[in-house]
Amino acid sequence: MGRKRQKVVKINKRKLPDQYLCPSCGMNTVGVILHRGEGYARIICSSCSLKEQFPIPENTDPVDAYCIFVDKYYGVEEPPVK
Ligand SMILES: [Zn+2]
Repeated sequence: MGRKRQKVVKINKRKLPDQYLCPSCGMNTVGVILHRGEGYARIICSSCSLKEQFPIPENTDPVDAYCIFVDKYYGVEEPPVK
């Protein structure tokens, strides 16, 4: 009985694309798709169909693209509250 714990851990991560919190509907259903070759990102919420598309720098990670998206979302829609 040897210890055979091999790398069985990776499975869950692979299944879903990155999902983030939607600033519009509040669900965890925002998908980030990076088109690095063409230099833009697409954001789609599968719950409320909120969509966005914008250019990104070359090394942008999905989470960075998501941050840009949220900034844009609030930046455009919300009046300054402070
Ligand atoms: Zn949504």
